[in-house]
Amino acid sequence: MLTLNADLHCHSCVSDGTLEPEALAVRAKANGVELWALTDHDELAGQRRARDTALALQLPYLTGTEISVTFAGQTVHIVGLGFDDHDEALIAGLAATRGGREERAQEIAAGLARVGITDAFRGALKYVGNPNLISRTHFARYLVEVGVCGDTSEVFRRYLTEGKPGYVPHRWARLGDAVGWIVNAGGVAVIAHPGRYKFSANEEYALFSEFKAHGGRGVEVVTGSHGAADVLKYTDTALEFDLLASRGSDFHSPEESRTDLGTLPALPSRLTPVWESLEHRVSKA
Ligand code: AMP
Ligand code: MN
Ligand code: MN
Ligand code: MN
Repeated sequence: MLTLNADLHCHSCVSDGTLEPEALAVRAKANGVELWALTDHDELAGQRRARDTALALQLPYLTGTEISVTFAGQTVHIVGLGFDDHDEALIAGLAATRGGREERAQEIAAGLARVGITDAFRGALKYVGNPNLISRTHFARYLVEVGVCGDTSEVFRRYLTEGKPGYVPHRWARLGDAVGWIVNAGGVAVIAHPGRYKFSANEEYALFSEFKAHGGRGVEVVTGSHGAADVLKYTDTALEFDLLASRGSDFHSPEESRTDLGTLPALPSRLTPVWESLEHRVSKA
Protein backbone atom coordinates (compact mmCIF):
# COMPACT_ATOMS: atom_id res chain seq x y z
CA MET A 1 0.00 0.00 0.00
CA LEU A 2 2.87 2.42 0.75
CA THR A 3 4.18 2.08 -2.78
CA LEU A 4 0.81 2.59 -4.50
CA ASN A 5 1.25 5.34 -7.08
CA ALA A 6 -1.40 7.62 -5.57
CA ASP A 7 -1.60 11.24 -6.76
CA LEU A 8 -4.16 13.04 -4.62
CA HIS A 9 -3.59 16.71 -5.47
CA CYS A 10 -3.85 18.50 -8.83
CA HIS A 11 -5.78 21.25 -10.63
CA SER A 12 -7.79 21.54 -13.83
CA CYS A 13 -9.00 24.63 -15.73
CA VAL A 14 -12.07 24.51 -13.45
CA SER A 15 -9.71 26.29 -11.00
CA ASP A 16 -6.18 27.46 -11.85
CA GLY A 17 -4.80 24.53 -13.86
CA THR A 18 -4.58 24.66 -17.64
CA LEU A 19 -5.87 21.19 -18.64
CA GLU A 20 -9.46 19.95 -18.79
CA PRO A 21 -10.41 17.33 -16.16
CA GLU A 22 -10.59 14.68 -18.90
CA ALA A 23 -7.07 15.46 -20.13
CA LEU A 24 -5.74 15.23 -16.57
CA ALA A 25 -7.30 11.78 -16.15
CA VAL A 26 -5.63 10.62 -19.37
CA ARG A 27 -2.30 12.09 -18.26
CA ALA A 28 -2.53 10.51 -14.80
CA LYS A 29 -3.25 7.11 -16.33
CA ALA A 30 -0.42 7.47 -18.88
CA ASN A 31 2.00 8.39 -16.08
CA GLY A 32 1.15 5.25 -14.09
CA VAL A 33 -1.07 6.76 -11.40
CA GLU A 34 -3.02 4.00 -9.60
CA LEU A 35 -5.30 6.16 -7.43
CA TRP A 36 -6.21 9.69 -8.44
CA ALA A 37 -8.06 12.76 -7.12
CA LEU A 38 -8.71 16.10 -8.83
CA THR A 39 -8.53 18.80 -6.12
CA ASP A 40 -9.59 22.08 -7.69
CA HIS A 41 -9.49 25.13 -5.40
CA ASP A 42 -12.82 25.77 -3.62
CA GLU A 43 -14.79 24.08 -6.41
CA LEU A 44 -16.36 20.71 -7.26
CA ALA A 45 -17.49 21.48 -10.82
CA GLY A 46 -14.84 19.19 -12.36
CA GLN A 47 -15.53 16.15 -10.17
CA ARG A 48 -17.96 14.29 -12.39
CA ARG A 49 -15.88 14.79 -15.52
CA ALA A 50 -12.73 13.64 -13.71
CA ARG A 51 -14.37 10.58 -12.18
CA ASP A 52 -16.18 9.49 -15.35
CA THR A 53 -13.01 9.68 -17.43
CA ALA A 54 -10.92 7.98 -14.74
CA LEU A 55 -13.37 5.10 -14.47
CA ALA A 56 -13.47 4.68 -18.26
CA LEU A 57 -9.66 4.32 -18.06
CA GLN A 58 -9.84 1.82 -15.14
CA LEU A 59 -8.20 4.42 -12.91
CA PRO A 60 -9.55 4.31 -9.32
CA TYR A 61 -10.81 7.75 -8.24
CA LEU A 62 -11.38 9.72 -5.00
CA THR A 63 -13.36 12.97 -4.92
CA GLY A 64 -11.19 15.96 -4.04
CA THR A 65 -10.97 19.68 -3.41
CA GLU A 66 -8.47 22.14 -1.91
CA ILE A 67 -10.10 24.68 0.40
CA SER A 68 -8.56 28.13 1.00
CA VAL A 69 -8.45 28.90 4.75
CA THR A 70 -7.16 31.85 6.75
CA PHE A 71 -5.26 30.82 9.88
CA ALA A 72 -3.12 33.12 12.04
CA GLY A 73 -3.15 35.75 9.31
CA GLN A 74 -1.92 33.44 6.55
CA THR A 75 -3.55 31.41 3.82
CA VAL A 76 -3.51 27.67 4.49
CA HIS A 77 -4.83 25.05 2.09
CA ILE A 78 -6.86 22.08 3.30
CA VAL A 79 -7.32 19.19 0.88
CA GLY A 80 -10.52 17.16 1.21
CA LEU A 81 -10.62 13.60 -0.11
CA GLY A 82 -13.28 10.94 -0.50
CA PHE A 83 -16.30 13.09 0.46
CA ASP A 84 -19.81 12.90 -1.00
CA ASP A 85 -19.70 15.56 -3.71
CA HIS A 86 -23.47 16.11 -3.44
CA ASP A 87 -23.24 17.14 0.23
CA GLU A 88 -25.16 20.42 0.51
CA ALA A 89 -23.22 21.99 3.39
CA LEU A 90 -19.93 21.33 1.61
CA ILE A 91 -21.26 22.77 -1.66
CA ALA A 92 -22.57 25.88 0.15
CA GLY A 93 -19.33 26.31 2.11
CA LEU A 94 -17.24 26.19 -1.05
CA ALA A 95 -19.57 28.68 -2.78
CA ALA A 96 -19.16 31.08 0.15
CA THR A 97 -15.37 30.62 0.08
CA ARG A 98 -15.25 31.45 -3.66
CA GLY A 99 -17.58 34.41 -3.16
CA GLY A 100 -15.13 37.27 -2.78
CA ARG A 101 -12.83 36.32 -5.64
CA GLU A 102 -14.14 38.66 -8.33
CA GLU A 103 -13.98 41.77 -6.13
CA ARG A 104 -10.52 40.73 -4.95
CA ALA A 105 -9.45 40.35 -8.58
CA GLN A 106 -10.65 43.90 -9.33
CA GLU A 107 -8.50 45.11 -6.42
CA ILE A 108 -5.51 43.13 -7.68
CA ALA A 109 -5.94 44.77 -11.09
CA ALA A 110 -6.18 48.22 -9.46
CA GLY A 111 -2.94 47.55 -7.56
CA LEU A 112 -1.20 46.50 -10.76
CA ALA A 113 -2.56 49.57 -12.60
CA ARG A 114 -0.90 51.77 -9.96
CA VAL A 115 2.49 50.43 -11.09
CA GLY A 116 1.65 50.88 -14.77
CA ILE A 117 0.27 47.44 -15.67
CA THR A 118 -3.01 48.28 -17.31
CA ASP A 119 -6.02 46.15 -18.16
CA ALA A 120 -4.90 43.22 -16.02
CA PHE A 121 -8.43 42.21 -15.00
CA ARG A 122 -9.45 41.68 -18.62
CA GLY A 123 -6.08 40.08 -19.34
CA ALA A 124 -6.38 37.60 -16.46
CA LEU A 125 -9.93 36.73 -17.49
CA LYS A 126 -8.62 35.35 -20.78
CA TYR A 127 -7.00 32.55 -18.76
CA VAL A 128 -9.98 31.84 -16.52
CA GLY A 129 -11.84 28.60 -17.24
CA ASN A 130 -14.46 29.18 -14.52
CA PRO A 131 -15.73 32.74 -13.93
CA ASN A 132 -16.30 31.90 -10.24
CA LEU A 133 -12.67 31.11 -9.77
CA ILE A 134 -10.43 33.93 -10.85
CA SER A 135 -7.10 33.40 -9.09
CA ARG A 136 -3.68 35.00 -8.78
CA THR A 137 -2.40 32.31 -11.13
CA HIS A 138 -4.50 33.77 -13.95
CA PHE A 139 -2.94 37.20 -13.37
CA ALA A 140 0.48 35.59 -13.35
CA ARG A 141 -0.15 34.03 -16.79
CA TYR A 142 -1.24 37.39 -18.19
CA LEU A 143 1.85 39.19 -16.84
CA VAL A 144 4.04 36.57 -18.49
CA GLU A 145 2.09 36.98 -21.74
CA VAL A 146 2.70 40.73 -21.86
CA GLY A 147 6.38 40.29 -21.01
CA VAL A 148 6.38 41.92 -17.55
CA CYS A 149 8.02 38.77 -16.16
CA GLY A 150 9.70 35.70 -17.62
CA ASP A 151 7.66 33.10 -15.71
CA THR A 152 4.83 32.81 -13.22
CA SER A 153 7.05 32.32 -10.14
CA GLU A 154 8.71 35.64 -10.94
CA VAL A 155 5.26 37.28 -11.13
CA PHE A 156 4.36 35.94 -7.67
CA ARG A 157 7.68 37.07 -6.25
CA ARG A 158 7.54 40.58 -7.71
CA TYR A 159 3.83 41.38 -7.86
CA LEU A 160 1.43 39.00 -6.13
CA THR A 161 2.78 38.19 -2.66
CA GLU A 162 2.59 40.16 0.58
CA GLY A 163 3.92 43.69 0.29
CA LYS A 164 3.86 43.67 -3.52
CA PRO A 165 1.64 45.90 -5.73
CA GLY A 166 -0.87 43.21 -6.76
CA TYR A 167 -1.24 41.65 -3.30
CA VAL A 168 -4.69 42.00 -1.74
CA PRO A 169 -5.22 40.55 1.74
CA HIS A 170 -8.23 38.26 1.72
CA ARG A 171 -10.25 36.43 4.34
CA TRP A 172 -10.92 32.83 3.31
CA ALA A 173 -12.80 30.10 5.19
CA ARG A 174 -12.13 29.33 8.85
CA LEU A 175 -10.08 26.21 9.58
CA GLY A 176 -12.79 24.57 11.67
CA ASP A 177 -15.46 25.26 9.04
CA ALA A 178 -13.40 23.84 6.15
CA VAL A 179 -12.48 20.69 8.09
CA GLY A 180 -16.09 20.32 9.23
CA TRP A 181 -17.51 20.56 5.70
CA ILE A 182 -15.17 17.79 4.52
CA VAL A 183 -15.61 15.50 7.52
CA ASN A 184 -19.40 15.89 7.64
CA ALA A 185 -19.52 14.95 3.95
CA GLY A 186 -17.78 11.66 4.79
CA GLY A 187 -14.29 12.71 3.66
CA VAL A 188 -10.84 13.03 5.16
CA ALA A 189 -9.25 16.48 5.66
CA VAL A 190 -5.53 16.88 4.95
CA ILE A 191 -3.18 19.84 5.55
CA ALA A 192 -1.76 20.64 2.10
CA HIS A 193 1.96 21.35 1.50
CA PRO A 194 2.84 22.43 5.08
CA GLY A 195 6.39 23.27 4.01
CA ARG A 196 5.09 26.30 2.10
CA TYR A 197 3.71 28.26 5.04
CA LYS A 198 5.75 30.88 6.86
CA PHE A 199 4.59 30.12 10.39
CA SER A 200 6.67 30.31 13.56
CA ALA A 201 7.11 26.99 15.37
CA ASN A 202 4.35 28.00 17.81
CA GLU A 203 1.92 28.95 15.06
CA GLU A 204 2.60 25.73 13.19
CA TYR A 205 2.01 23.73 16.37
CA ALA A 206 -1.28 25.58 16.82
CA LEU A 207 -2.27 24.82 13.21
CA PHE A 208 -1.71 21.08 13.63
CA SER A 209 -3.32 20.95 17.10
CA GLU A 210 -6.43 22.90 16.06
CA PHE A 211 -6.71 20.96 12.80
CA LYS A 212 -6.77 17.70 14.78
CA ALA A 213 -9.22 19.08 17.33
CA HIS A 214 -11.60 19.95 14.46
CA GLY A 215 -11.43 16.38 13.13
CA GLY A 216 -8.60 16.72 10.58
CA ARG A 217 -6.77 13.45 10.00
CA GLY A 218 -4.05 13.85 7.38
CA VAL A 219 -1.04 15.80 6.19
CA GLU A 220 0.66 15.96 2.80
CA VAL A 221 4.17 14.71 3.36
CA VAL A 222 5.23 14.08 -0.24
CA THR A 223 4.17 16.88 -2.60
CA GLY A 224 5.59 18.89 -5.51
CA SER A 225 6.81 21.82 -3.41
CA HIS A 226 8.51 19.72 -0.68
CA GLY A 227 12.24 19.12 -0.76
CA ALA A 228 13.92 16.21 1.07
CA ALA A 229 14.17 18.22 4.30
CA ASP A 230 10.44 19.02 4.23
CA VAL A 231 9.64 15.33 3.72
CA LEU A 232 11.73 14.42 6.79
CA LYS A 233 10.28 17.21 8.90
CA TYR A 234 6.63 16.44 8.09
CA THR A 235 7.18 12.70 8.47
CA ASP A 236 8.09 13.47 12.07
CA THR A 237 5.13 15.85 12.38
CA ALA A 238 2.73 13.22 11.02
CA LEU A 239 3.99 10.73 13.61
CA GLU A 240 3.94 13.30 16.43
CA PHE A 241 0.32 14.27 15.70
CA ASP A 242 -0.75 10.75 14.71
CA LEU A 243 -1.82 11.87 11.22
CA LEU A 244 -2.25 9.86 8.04
CA ALA A 245 0.12 10.77 5.23
CA SER A 246 -0.89 11.95 1.77
CA ARG A 247 0.98 12.27 -1.52
CA GLY A 248 0.12 14.61 -4.39
CA SER A 249 1.97 16.42 -7.14
CA ASP A 250 -0.07 19.68 -7.03
CA PHE A 251 0.23 19.59 -10.83
CA HIS A 252 -1.25 22.70 -12.55
CA SER A 253 0.15 22.79 -16.09
CA PRO A 254 2.64 21.03 -18.38
CA GLU A 255 4.29 24.41 -19.02
CA GLU A 256 4.49 25.62 -15.42
CA SER A 257 4.66 22.67 -13.02
CA ARG A 258 7.96 21.08 -12.09
CA THR A 259 6.32 17.89 -10.82
CA ASP A 260 4.16 15.94 -13.25
CA LEU A 261 1.28 13.69 -12.20
CA GLY A 262 2.44 10.34 -10.80
CA THR A 263 6.15 11.17 -10.61
CA LEU A 264 6.65 11.79 -6.87
CA PRO A 265 8.79 9.58 -4.60
CA ALA A 266 7.00 7.07 -2.35
CA LEU A 267 5.94 7.95 1.19
CA PRO A 268 8.54 7.13 3.86
CA SER A 269 7.88 3.66 5.26
CA ARG A 270 7.22 4.85 8.83
CA LEU A 271 3.96 6.48 7.70
CA THR A 272 0.38 5.26 7.28
CA PRO A 273 -1.00 6.31 3.87
CA VAL A 274 -4.27 8.23 3.93
CA TRP A 275 -5.66 5.93 1.23
CA GLU A 276 -5.75 2.99 3.68
CA SER A 277 -8.58 4.83 5.45
CA LEU A 278 -10.36 5.75 2.22
CA GLU A 279 -10.73 2.36 0.56
CA HIS A 280 -14.50 2.38 1.03
CA ARG A 281 -14.71 5.80 -0.67
CA VAL A 282 -12.79 4.89 -3.86
CA SER A 283 -14.78 4.78 -7.12
CA LYS A 284 -13.70 1.90 -9.34
CA ALA A 285 -14.85 0.83 -12.79
P1 AMP B 1 -5.18 32.40 -5.02
O1 AMP B 1 -6.09 31.28 -4.56
O2 AMP B 1 -5.84 33.29 -6.03
O3 AMP B 1 -4.59 33.17 -3.87
O4 AMP B 1 -3.97 31.73 -5.80
C1 AMP B 1 -3.20 30.75 -5.15
C2 AMP B 1 -2.48 29.91 -6.19
O5 AMP B 1 -1.40 30.62 -6.71
C3 AMP B 1 -1.89 28.66 -5.61
O6 AMP B 1 -2.82 27.63 -5.57
C4 AMP B 1 -0.78 28.35 -6.60
O7 AMP B 1 -1.32 27.65 -7.71
C5 AMP B 1 -0.36 29.72 -7.05
N1 AMP B 1 0.87 30.19 -6.37
C6 AMP B 1 0.98 30.65 -5.11
N2 AMP B 1 2.25 31.02 -4.85
C7 AMP B 1 2.95 30.80 -5.98
C8 AMP B 1 4.33 30.97 -6.37
N3 AMP B 1 5.22 31.49 -5.52
N4 AMP B 1 4.69 30.61 -7.63
C9 AMP B 1 3.78 30.09 -8.49
N5 AMP B 1 2.48 29.90 -8.19
C10 AMP B 1 2.08 30.24 -6.95
MN1 MN C 1 -3.28 26.67 -7.51
MN1 MN D 1 -2.23 24.86 -2.40
MN1 MN E 1 -2.98 22.86 -5.09
